[in-house]
Amino acid sequence: MALDEQQFRQQAQDWLTENFPPSLRGGRFIMPHTQEEGSSPSADYLLWKQRMAAKGWSVPTWPSEYGGGGLSIRQAEILAEEMTRAGAFNPIGGLGIMMLGPTLLEYGNDEQKARHIPPIVRGEVEWCQGFSEPGAGSDLAALRTRCEDKGDHFLINGQKIWTSFAHVSDWCFCLVRTDTSVKQAGISFLLIDMKTPGVEARPIELINGVSHFCETFFTDVKVPKENLVGRVNQGWEIAKRLLQHERSGLSSQRNVANVEQGLPHLAREYVGTDDAGRIADADLRTRIVQHMMRQEAYGLALKHRNAEIEAGQDGTAPMSSLKNLGAGVAQELNELAVEILGHAGTGNRGPGFSNTELELTSGWLYSKCFSIYGGSHEIQNNILAKRELGLPGA
Ligand SMILES: Cc1cc2nc3c(=O)[nH]c(=O)nc-3n(C[C@H](O)[C@H](O)[C@H](O)COP(=O)(O)OP(=O)(O)OC[C@H]3O[C@@H](n4cnc5c(N)ncnc54)[C@H](O)[C@@H]3O)c2cc1C
Repeated sequence: MALDEQQFRQQAQDWLTENFPPSLRGGRFIMPHTQEEGSSPSADYLLWKQRMAAKGWSVPTWPSEYGGGGLSIRQAEILAEEMTRAGAFNPIGGLGIMMLGPTLLEYGNDEQKARHIPPIVRGEVEWCQGFSEPGAGSDLAALRTRCEDKGDHFLINGQKIWTSFAHVSDWCFCLVRTDTSVKQAGISFLLIDMKTPGVEARPIELINGVSHFCETFFTDVKVPKENLVGRVNQGWEIAKRLLQHERSGLSSQRNVANVEQGLPHLAREYVGTDDAGRIADADLRTRIVQHMMRQEAYGLALKHRNAEIEAGQDGTAPMSSLKNLGAGVAQELNELAVEILGHAGTGNRGPGFSNTELELTSGWLYSKCFSIYGGSHEIQNNILAKRELGLPGA
């Protein structure tokens, strides 16, 4: 019998009390490969990961058949609320969870789902996204990476760019050209093992000094035919669906910004307080409050979208506006944080700054990309104009 909301909330609370190691309270997901060299996750982190994986709550709404939690969207919301209350976090993440998993559940065949979904749920395999190419970013369908049918396998030649974490990923979900005579209708969706001979990922250093994405080269890479998702030339349809999952994942993530609760606290510390105990700078005070209201409104918009999906409506329609809204709110948050730091927000590495200061400045630099990746701000506006407002295309 289905649990009512209160019963489920109680069940989630009990499970978290029993299973979430208190030493991890207030911690966060660590991408396995962003760990400092030589360091490894604590025993409690590994235990928490293993318990979440076994429970399937790393992907609460995925079907239990493939290791997911089998929860409704509303139950997943309740679980997220209870995890926040407990100071807990999801120790399993990455592109497999955010993008490939939900796409494969829809378009993959039984063998592909059985092979790839459970390791994603358990956080055992890292995936990267081979979509963008030099000359094919916003105009993604202009991609040229060639895929030739060689009878018993596909042969891949070409180059991808901005492939996040390609240098540390096990697999890549990749768009390739299978027909050069048409644009969108000549693209296919392939799963490529990054250890295959001929795959080379070269890291690119970012503005904040971190190197998280790569140029990825494919030279005479042989890919087994069983790694084709959907049909040959169905890739554009699948990619559009995956991009919706990406935008949805990005907008949900931004609802949980690390310094969100801390802005007033940060301002009191760095800007000081007036005689009434308020943040000394009245203009800054107003802008912090306005930001918190926008953040709240954004959270409510996400909830509304979730409720629509739960009710069986097409929840994909508002994805572009949510992506732009979420990016804007998160960028504003980072701008405010660095403004509050004053001269302490001028360094993103080196001595003379505290860890928090370095992290906030680095986060501010990184936040510039929120309105680029997953489809730029302008492209989302184009989609909205065309699909939602019915305006003619450019
Ligand atoms: C941090 C980060 C991580 C990324 N990770 C990945 C990844 O893992 N895998 C992957 O495949 N890609 C990844 N990308 C690439 C990302 O998807 C592209 O950067 C994005 O789609 C934009 O493409 P572009 O950079 O080629 O810019 P361009 O397409 O060259 O666009 C340049 C500018 O022109 C504007 N523009 C272009 N066309 C139009 C138009 N028709 N109307 C109005 N304005 C337009 C754009 O909005 C943008 O401001 C990542 C990007 C970033 C920043």
